[in-house]
This record gives sequence, structure tokens and C-alpha cells, in this order.
Amino acid sequence: MKIFDEIESEVQSYARSFPRVFNRAKGEHLYDEEGNEYLDFLAGAGTLNYGHNNTIFKEKLLEYIHSDGITHGLDLHTKAKGEFLEAFNEKILQPRNLDYMVQFTGPTGTNAVEAALKLARNITGRENIITFTNGFHGVSLGALAATGNSHHRGAAGISLSGTSRMPFDGYLGDDVDTTAYLDKVLSDSSSGIDKPAAVIVETVQGEGGINAASFEWLKNLASVCKEHDVLLIVDDIQAGCGRTGTFFSFEEAGIKPDIVTLSKSLGGYGLPFAVVLISPELDQWKPGEHNGTFRGNNFAFVTAKAALDFYWSDDKFSNEIKRKGQYISDRLNAIIEQYGEGNFTTRGRGMFQGINCVNGELAGKITKRAFQKGLIIETSGADDQVIKFLCPLVISEANLAKGIDIVEESIREICEKESSMPEEQDYFDDVRVAC
Ligand SMILES: *Cc1c(COP(=O)(O)O)cnc(C)c1O
Repeated sequence: MKIFDEIESEVQSYARSFPRVFNRAKGEHLYDEEGNEYLDFLAGAGTLNYGHNNTIFKEKLLEYIHSDGITHGLDLHTKAKGEFLEAFNEKILQPRNLDYMVQFTGPTGTNAVEAALKLARNITGRENIITFTNGFHGVSLGALAATGNSHHRGAAGISLSGTSRMPFDGYLGDDVDTTAYLDKVLSDSSSGIDKPAAVIVETVQGEGGINAASFEWLKNLASVCKEHDVLLIVDDIQAGCGRTGTFFSFEEAGIKPDIVTLSKSLGGYGLPFAVVLISPELDQWKPGEHNGTFRGNNFAFVTAKAALDFYWSDDKFSNEIKRKGQYISDRLNAIIEQYGEGNFTTRGRGMFQGINCVNGELAGKITKRAFQKGLIIETSGADDQVIKFLCPLVISEANLAKGIDIVEESIREICEKESSMPEEQDYFDDVRVAC
């Protein structure tokens, strides 16, 4: 369609990787106008954990719309919001022995991060926030200051301040526990790192290249925070809502963050929704200090509650994610062993995994090839060198296998020394060196 070239801004990104006009989606599939079917291993960058147009949520939503339930409610108390809070408390917080106050922010992840950073700064009276190499927290100025990616940072047009960067787990190699460095600089009054209000961390860095922190590192991080009286914020916007196998990505590490941000799959149906979870003693907001017109997306409350009721009332779904996650690990490890020639590595946790192809151009060629075969899959990392497997958690086992098969075939074809497809000779010639 010409209109996209004519008047849609150059800022588009995913649309460039998948240049089709999509008009329908269901479960783990997207369809374009020509009726082509694609398996979706991008899943709204982690927003569609329960698949596209989940039938159960759709029915609840249609019922709600038919009965003229509230659509937009600012922060008014509505039945839908109350029922979401009840479900969240009963199905998520109480069984995990977590007590958090729930702040509804504007419905994007970055807005939740802004609120979390503001709150931490206001409570402690300190400005500095510790953030990690390759971290991604959103692109509004406060969250962008906490984000590592130079492409995004470069667009700020203003100095990004108030943060100090520390090496994430594994940044200096597997043998170095980087929390020891954090502990050291916080203990040394001449380290030059101002005493921070908080540390903000992703347990698995999504945009930064599927870098999974070990549970031990997370535990150590939590104790360094405690020791130095610094708040711990876990940004669970992408890793949360089941992606790693448990509802919160930090559960298995046995830590309890002071503040948690959630968005992406929280709304369940792909509807915009974000919250900040705040330890009760830290809920020191004054009325309306952090507001926003769209804090009351009641459609999202309805589908979010449906997601909690249907998928999180027992541990069946969690076990299913863990089982599929194990299958993904096994398959990806076999693939790198066979085709990676000692260069490729796997990374991640649960259904949040990737293959590091080291070379971004090569990873891009593989995902492009996969798209030709009907698979939508993206790359992430500093050089877009990591192929990011982010399919809906509810994907059927057959389609999970099929999607991985397509990546495997694409890697084999791209990395194959002797191409059997002469018409694509040029295309293969320039990638052969890299493999
Ligand atoms: C996507 C993401 C954000 C930003 O969310 P938006 O809705 O794009 O503003 C923040 N943190 C993490 C970890 C994310 O993955």
C-alpha cells in the first residue's frame, strides 16, 4: 500500500523487517492481505504471551462492551478495575506472599518506569539511579537515561542524566561477579558514584540481547541493595507475566524487589496497560503527583483479569511454560552445535531465549530468510546479533517445533558453504565469510 510510504513517518522499525500489510491474527498466527499465514515468534515484543485475539479474553471483552461497561475511566473506581485488583491480589500476590500496592500509570512500559524512578528519587531524596549495561527501560527521557542502547539514547537531543551504569551479570565474563564491583563503589565514598536512590534491573535483558542474570547474581544484587539502603526496582515489563516460567521473573531467585514495573502482556489481549507495584511503606505518593489521562483502560482490566483467572489459578500454565522452555533450550543447543561452528551461543530462560550469532548482519540474514519461509522473528542486542525467540506462551507444541525448524533451516541455508540455489548465489556469497 502506497500510503505507508507517502505519509507514515520514517520512525517505523518492525514494519521494515516485515513489509506486508497484515489484516488478521489468531493465536500464534498473523495473516497478510494476500492470505499468507505467518507464525509469530515476535508476539508484540512480549505483549502477546497469550496469543493474538485469545478466544477466552475476547468473549469477556465482547460481553463487557455489549453491556456498556466503562471504557475510559481516568482513575475512577470501576467494577472492572476492582475485579482486576481482586484477581491480582488473590491469584498473584497472596500465593507468593507478596504485599504490594498497585499504582496504575499511563498505559506504556516507559510510563511505569518513569513513575518508579520518580518515586524512588522522591522517597530517598537522592538523584542517582544505578542501571546496567545493555539494559532497556523505554524511550521517554527518564527511562531513556536508564537505557544503554546508543541508537535510542542518541535521539534524546538533551543530556541524559541521573544514572550510573554498572556491568550486568556476565558483562566481564562468566567468572566475574559484577555485584562485588557495585558493592565496592557503594562502599567507597571516593568512588565517584553518588549514593543512589535505587538500582533498576531486568532479570533477563530483552532488547539488550536476552542476557539472563543468574539467580545467584540476583540474590547478591538484592543483598548489596539492602546493605547500602538502596531500593531495588525490577523492570519486569518484558520478562514478567510468565515469560520465564513463573509469573514474576524474579520468583525463582527468591528475592523481593521494593518496586516492580509490569506492562506488555499484563493486559492479556495486547491492550495497553501498565502498573507499578510498590512495597506498602514506600507508597508515599501525594494524590495526583504522577497522573495520566489513560490510567483507566478498563478493557485491559477486563482482559487482564481473564488472563489471571484462566491461566494463573493454579500452576498448570507455569509448568507448561517450563516444559516448552526446556524443549526450546534443547533444540537451540542442538542447532548451535550443528551449525554454529563454535561461534554461536544460546541464552535466556523459560520461553525467553535466543541464539547469539555474534554478527548482526548474519543474524539479520537468518531472520530475513525465516520470514520468507513464513516465520516472523526479530533480533535484539547491541548489534542486533541475537535471534530472539519470543513466541506466544500458549503456542501449540507442533507450531513451536515448526517455528524452530524454520530457524534451523534458515541457519543451515545461510551458513551452508555450497549453495544449491544458483539464482540466490549473490545473496549467499556475501554471508559465507561470516559463518
Ligand atoms: C518494552 C519495555 C519497556 C518499555 O515499554 P513501552 O511500552 O515500549 O514504553 C520498558 N522496559 C522493558 C524491560 C521493556 O521490555
